[in-house]
Amino acid sequence: MQSISKNSAAKTVILGTGGTIAGTAEAGDNIGYTAAQLGVAQLVARVPALAGVPLEVEQVAQLDSKDMDFATWRLLAQRVAFHLDRPDVGGVVITHGTDTLEETGYLLHRVLAPARPVVLAAAMRPATALLADGPQNVLDAVSVACHPEARGVLAVLSGAVWVAGEMRKTHSYRTDAFSAGDAGPLGWLEEGVLRQLRPWPVARSVGLAPLERREWPRVEIVFSHAGADGRLVDALVRDGVDGLVVAATGNGTVHHEVEAALLRAQAQGVKVLRSTRVGAGAVLAKPGDALPSAGTLTPVQARVELLLQLLEGAPR
Ligand code: ASP
Repeated sequence: MQSISKNSAAKTVILGTGGTIAGTAEAGDNIGYTAAQLGVAQLVARVPALAGVPLEVEQVAQLDSKDMDFATWRLLAQRVAFHLDRPDVGGVVITHGTDTLEETGYLLHRVLAPARPVVLAAAMRPATALLADGPQNVLDAVSVACHPEARGVLAVLSGAVWVAGEMRKTHSYRTDAFSAGDAGPLGWLEEGVLRQLRPWPVARSVGLAPLERREWPRVEIVFSHAGADGRLVDALVRDGVDGLVVAATGNGTVHHEVEAALLRAQAQGVKVLRSTRVGAGAVLAKPGDALPSAGTLTPVQARVELLLQLLEGAPR
C-alpha cells in the first residue's frame, strides 16, 4: 500500500481552496456537480494512508476556481508564506480547482519561488464520482511535499508531477488534463515513489509586497483571429485598461488591425505582452519586435506576469 515516508518529523500543511476535488453530486454524476462543498479536513479524512502523517489543515477559501479572485490569491499567497516560514513545516499542499490551476500556480511560483515544496492538488472528478481522482492526487501531493529534496511550486495530477509555472490545462474532461508543452512533467509519482526526469525548479521571487497593493491593475486578454479588428482593443484603452495580453496566432503573429490597435495602446502607456493561443511552444522573439513576447507562458499566465510587472511598477 502506498504510504508516506515518516523519516521526517516536519509537518505538511494542507490549505483548502475548493474546486471539483471538494465537489459533490447526486448519484455519482461526473459533470453535473457543485464544486467546493467539502472542507479540506473532509478531503484528508477520505485518504486512509494519511492517518498518522503529521499534517495540519486550514480552509483558506471555498470556491469554484473559475471564480478565483485577487483577494483569494493574496490571502493564499500570504498563508503559504506564513506556513513556509515555520521551522516545523516541511511543505505545503493546496487543494484547488483545475480551471485556473495554471494561473494560481504561476502566481505562487513568481511571488514565492519557495526553497521548500508547495504542491497543488486538484481533481477532474467530484469527490462523489465512481472514479474520484481527488484522494489519490491529495496523497500524491503529500508524498511530493514530504520528498526530502523537493522545492518550488509544483502540481500533481494523475501521477504526473508538474512545475506549476509551466503547466496548463489541455483537456476539458479527462483526468490526465494537464501538460507542460515541450517541457513535459518534472517526473512521475508511482506508488509514492518519484521517478524524477529533471531538476526541481529554481526561480527568483518578486516577493509578497506587490500583492499587498489595494488596487490591482486591470489586465485583459484579447484574441487575434480571422476577421479580427482593433475595436475591442481601442474600447479597452478608452475604458482605462492598464495591460493587454494578446493571445496571438502561431509564433506570436497578430492580425494587422489588432496589431495596429495594440501599438496605439502601447504608445498611450498600456503594457502589452504577446503570447500564443496555440497551447504549446514559445513566442520566439526577434530583434526589433514592436510587441514584447511572453515566451512560453500561456495567455492566462502572461496575464499574471503582466499584473505582477504592473504591481511592481517596473518590468522584470
Ligand atoms: N470548475 C472546477 C474548478 O476549477 C473544475 C475543476 O476543479 O476541475 O474549481
